[in-house]
Amino acid sequence: MPSSKEGLLFRDASRRVALVTGASRGIGRAVAEGLAADGFDLALVYAGNAEASAEAVAACEAAGATARAYRCDVASADEVKATVGAVLDDFGAVWALVNNAGVTRDGLLVRMKDEDFERVVGVNLTGAFNMTRALTRAFMRQRGGRVVNMSSAVGLMGNAGQANYAASKAGLIGLTKSVARELAPRGVTVNAVAPGFVRTDMTAALPEQVVERYEGQIPLGRLADPSEVAAVVRFLVSNAAAYVTGEVVRVDGGMAM
Ligand code: NAP
Repeated sequence: MPSSKEGLLFRDASRRVALVTGASRGIGRAVAEGLAADGFDLALVYAGNAEASAEAVAACEAAGATARAYRCDVASADEVKATVGAVLDDFGAVWALVNNAGVTRDGLLVRMKDEDFERVVGVNLTGAFNMTRALTRAFMRQRGGRVVNMSSAVGLMGNAGQANYAASKAGLIGLTKSVARELAPRGVTVNAVAPGFVRTDMTAALPEQVVERYEGQIPLGRLADPSEVAAVVRFLVSNAAAYVTGEVVRVDGGMAM
């Protein structure tokens, strides 16, 4: 872990800071590593997998970043407030927020339990709301910044067995567009990325026949690598994307077009 100096991590102040949720594994880790390579320092938020988060920190450091992991359930407004406070104490500022943490609890509507609906919406949608709200004053003060919300092609198309997940991901699109309008006058852009099927732990449990069926519905004929989603996030937080806001970028091999 990097050493602290006068409350701030001892870091190169010319590097911008990105806070990525769900950064210990999968897409979030690929985003964190990519942003480290692009010159960002990294605050990585994870739910409980300390080993994976330590590996992600080490990978970001290997790419030249100062990086620190924060354990936080994004569904809890109190935990998010404390975590954002700690990140601002440690790093001094945040330029880019990537709301990527997400979970699934699939099941047909007729059998879906209240807690399965509430938890998925709580992590995927309320989590992004909690994080964005907690950082909004800092974004407004610095008159610039980037927010990227990880939606899903399922939020655009719906999917049998994922009413909770699709609702959370469609909700993220409304959140994205509303916050984009609110923060545009302060120079903060807010966009969403909608991946199709990506090879991560989230899809690893799918039986091979189901993967083959999905591949048949994807014009490009294969699942994505996490780095292919990260590439779009890296663009959206870059200076080159300064005039892009309120957009939803599909990264789905053509599935939802
Ligand atoms: P993943 O491999 O299952 O990783 C999930 C990440 O989220 C982990 O870092 C996990 O932390 C973290 N997390 C889970 N619950 C959290 C909570 N309550 N608070 C904070 N962090 C939490 O997932 P993934 O496939 O990379 O997906 C990342 C995002 O992309 C999700 O929003 C997902 O819905 C979206 N997405 C995925 C796909 C796909 O095909 N994989 C497609 C479209 C959209 P721990 O390691 O500590 O558990």
